[in-house]
Amino acid sequence: MKFHGNIDGLVEKLSGKVEKLKSNQKEGVVYNITSNDEKLINWNEATGTIEVLCDADKANILFELFNVVSDKTYKIDNETKQENFLGEVYTDSELVIGLVGAVGSRLGQLTDILKGYLVDRFKYDVEVISVSSQIIKKYKEDKIQTNDEFSRIKSYMDSGNELRNESNDNSFVALDAARVISEVREQREKEGKTKRVAYIINSLKHDEEIKRLRQIYSEGFYQVSLYESSQRRSEYLIKDKGMQTQQVDELIQRDEGEEKGHGQHTRDAFHLADYFVKYDGSYDGLRNSCFRFLSLIFGDPFITPTFDEFATYMAFTSSLRSADLSRQVGAVIARDETILSTGANDIPKFGGGLYWPVVDKVTGEVTDTSDGRDYKRDEDSNVKEKEKISEDLINSLLKLIDSSGVSTSKNEGEITTLKDEIQNVVKNSKIKDITEYGRVVHAEMETLMSCSRESISTKGATLYATTFPCHNCAKHIIAAGIERVVFVEPYPKSKALDFHRESVTIGFDTADNKVVFEPFVGVGARNFLNVFSMSLGSGYALKRKSKNGSTLPWSANDSQLRTALLPYSYLEREDKAKDLIQRLSKNV
Ligand SMILES: [Zn+2]
Repeated sequence: MKFHGNIDGLVEKLSGKVEKLKSNQKEGVVYNITSNDEKLINWNEATGTIEVLCDADKANILFELFNVVSDKTYKIDNETKQENFLGEVYTDSELVIGLVGAVGSRLGQLTDILKGYLVDRFKYDVEVISVSSQIIKKYKEDKIQTNDEFSRIKSYMDSGNELRNESNDNSFVALDAARVISEVREQREKEGKTKRVAYIINSLKHDEEIKRLRQIYSEGFYQVSLYESSQRRSEYLIKDKGMQTQQVDELIQRDEGEEKGHGQHTRDAFHLADYFVKYDGSYDGLRNSCFRFLSLIFGDPFITPTFDEFATYMAFTSSLRSADLSRQVGAVIARDETILSTGANDIPKFGGGLYWPVVDKVTGEVTDTSDGRDYKRDEDSNVKEKEKISEDLINSLLKLIDSSGVSTSKNEGEITTLKDEIQNVVKNSKIKDITEYGRVVHAEMETLMSCSRESISTKGATLYATTFPCHNCAKHIIAAGIERVVFVEPYPKSKALDFHRESVTIGFDTADNKVVFEPFVGVGARNFLNVFSMSLGSGYALKRKSKNGSTLPWSANDSQLRTALLPYSYLEREDKAKDLIQRLSKNV
């Protein structure tokens, strides 16, 4: 049940229907209205939601007044809840937060901070789900070693890989996390505990785990990725956990990404986040980021994007225009908090810039230039050229074998095996990482070109990119005088840091005579509309002022999750809608 307007309007609507009305401002935007000194309703001015507090007789007067037809035998509680399932604010929504961070990151600290705020400020219960002790250990207890930290972490990585491999499902851990959540909920229900629960999963290691949790919990699932530099993580593992440098290097390298599909894939999972936080030694910094994240998802209407968030989102928006066959990359150049140009990865066209679809003014038909973009040619030139190089190399090696006399000492089967092996080795060699033969202009290059076409200097500017620049783009970024690069997704094949170590550095600190490549922190592009748009996100609309023009205060204590995780399927909600329209239509 809802009322939109100001308190005077609400009192006017109620007067004459109930006696001796009194309203008082309870906390912030919430008003408590009494009749004959008995509690009648709580009304939230920001969301318009009415919470019914009175007995059934008075409640029925209210239902009539607000055009909600009530069955007298219907309990007030259920009535209100039924409305809420279809309405915009559902106060009992659960939420699931999945943490992602490379090995050695302070994920425990992150968990504690989120838990502290959720409990103290947002009035939620928190259930922490430990992937290692509650999931991996349950299935692989005999494999877990406890002698020292290196063996312990390594045995958990091995066991995680085994679970994914044996089950033939890379989302195994996520599926089991859902099992744990379901069991915890059942137990809590038995104990009569609050339904307002946040589940924090510490931690996830594979992109398919993230995809699975989004399938299950949809917009009630939030991924928070924690960035901590490899130097800081190494120091922590060596000094605090007593590991050897060599052991740390092994774990860090392995954790980032293994070749096997069921291996560790932290790097592929990291950039899918709804929110990116960093730990650079500042505990306060981490705390402030966490509170900002929670305030955003709990509908604080006064938080707006930072310029870095805005420009990174613009880079993502730019990437959407790419028709590249393998991936969409976007980039933006900005200076003094002004966007100078945008770019995406696509095929260049005569006259400058990249192909856009062409709109036929007469028929309205939208088409792409024939023989232009890669898909119009039905092939990726880079892949084709790499195949030619591999074939050429394989043929030369096979000829060498034939002419070397090796074949005379082997039987036919052995020769076939040897030839197969050579093919495998060449095809899986670093040849596959070559990007040289692509027809596409990379997004970073296109945003630079865009500036040059319009005579805009790029000296001292910042470049925002959805992916870590490749070494080819990196050298042009340096040459263009860019001083700062903000990136989201890591790109392991890039040699930028190796090739240009004298003029490029990674991290958050400015360095003399070096371009700083900075990992992005803040709201991830995928969640931008949901947290920043007052009306376009999936959750309830945000309200910033009352009708008389004063701002409406927001407080964590009184806030509701903006995008609620409704406990009903769409089929059940459809049934609720049918019930409701049946009751409402009696009045029509
Ligand atoms: Zn590039």
